Amino acid sequence: MKAHDGMYIDGAWRPAAGTDTIAVVNPADEQVIAHVPAGTAEDVDAAVRAARAAFPAWAATPPAERAALIAALRDALAARKDEIAATVTAELGAPPQAAQAIHAGLPVAVAGTYADLAATYGFEEEAGNSTVLLEPVGVVGAITPWNYPLHQIVAKVAPALAAGCTVVLKPAEDTPLTARHFAEAAHEAGLPAGVFNLVTGLGPVAGQALAEHPGVDMVSFTGSTAVGRRIGAVAGGAVKRVALELGGKSANVILPGADLAKAVAVGVANVMSNSGQTCSAWTRMLVHRDQYDEAVALAAQAVGKYVPGDRIGPLVNAKQQERVRGYIEQGVAEGARLVAGGPEAPLDKGYYVSPTVFADVTPAMTIAQEEIFGPVVSILAYEDEDDALRIANGTVYGLAGAVWAADDETAVAFARRMETGQVDINGGRFNPLAPFGGYKQSGVGRELGAHGLAEYLQTKSLQF
Ligand code: NAD
Repeated sequence: MKAHDGMYIDGAWRPAAGTDTIAVVNPADEQVIAHVPAGTAEDVDAAVRAARAAFPAWAATPPAERAALIAALRDALAARKDEIAATVTAELGAPPQAAQAIHAGLPVAVAGTYADLAATYGFEEEAGNSTVLLEPVGVVGAITPWNYPLHQIVAKVAPALAAGCTVVLKPAEDTPLTARHFAEAAHEAGLPAGVFNLVTGLGPVAGQALAEHPGVDMVSFTGSTAVGRRIGAVAGGAVKRVALELGGKSANVILPGADLAKAVAVGVANVMSNSGQTCSAWTRMLVHRDQYDEAVALAAQAVGKYVPGDRIGPLVNAKQQERVRGYIEQGVAEGARLVAGGPEAPLDKGYYVSPTVFADVTPAMTIAQEEIFGPVVSILAYEDEDDALRIANGTVYGLAGAVWAADDETAVAFARRMETGQVDINGGRFNPLAPFGGYKQSGVGRELGAHGLAEYLQTKSLQF
């Protein structure tokens, strides 16, 4: 058996219990590049047992020692950056530059923040005559999506380990090879056996078995709202802790007085990044009626830079490609005006979708309400600030957003009224320490930074 043929359980690569496999496909050329085992409930059970057995010692390991091992994990990921980037390009289709900078680079930074936080976090507090102990929740079942394959893993595993939890990971079936790099890095870093375990497999089989396993104390899930709802119900039934990072339909609100050209260009770039497969993408651009035509012309121009197969990659699989092309057809059918792109596939091979801009989109249209998860921007007109706020808040989601104004104060005043978990002010930069997560149906809980670590802790109070 090659190290790669199995599951990583209890500190070693082991054969899977069954013989079924999952084909991994390169979405740029539709070729099968590998097969991984389709894990079953038996594999999940072995991994959960290993994680349970490892939990007491890991929870009792001094935070400074846990911090040193997370720093070693960060270094092991950094050492494999080129290999990771090439793997993300092969199984997700990310263009090489984005694969390096974002898919391989960001997880190294996030792992570094948790090496620091594990060492400095206050795991004990005083409150009057009490000492409050912040203790690890236990065994965490982590279920991740394919869109940022390594980032989604690190954003769960690093804080869980920092908190003193042990983990069983079930990564997305489209991107299991990146998850294997992570397991190899965890092994190289010297994490004790059983502290981190990997089971590849299908969502409704391995994922569900993990969520339902009585030996799992908390489920941390990132993915679609439909599956998240089911996992929330399973966790609720068993009275388990649950964290859900779900879909989004974020608004890019451009107020009068903002730098319109910059706000439009950054907004289009935000949606085109990762071929639109970003849960926090600002897929609705809100522009004042008086500046509407100018904004539409600027967006049509800005999107021209994203040439499929060059600056913008394919979607992850044929199903997603069909789904997104279906949304574009529906936008046209409901009366939106195509100013760039359209439903036709731009290349003969690969799961590409044309970078698309819609004008004359109204808030009730399907393309303004539902998450498309592809390179599609909808531009909506508003009459005044209250109207803009109604439109911005007018979906079931509330994950992210942006506000552009003449000054930060005006933008912040608007952002305070938005029902969403994260807002970029006048082009503010991504911050790996800022809590990330949703209001409304975008989720429950937060990832990243100290708030992301707190998710994996439970409190005990001692009275004196
Ligand atoms: P998905 O919900 O189909 O799958 C996500 C993960 O859940 C995968 O590992 C999958 O195997 C697993 N899964 C599927 N069915 C399951 C079940 N019945 N029980 C347990 N696990 C199951 O989502 P996807 O298609 O992989 O990802 C796209 C969606 O994820 C989009 O809606 C996007 O917005 C969302 N997403 C959200 C965030 C966030 O942070 N909020 C980040 C990335 C993606």
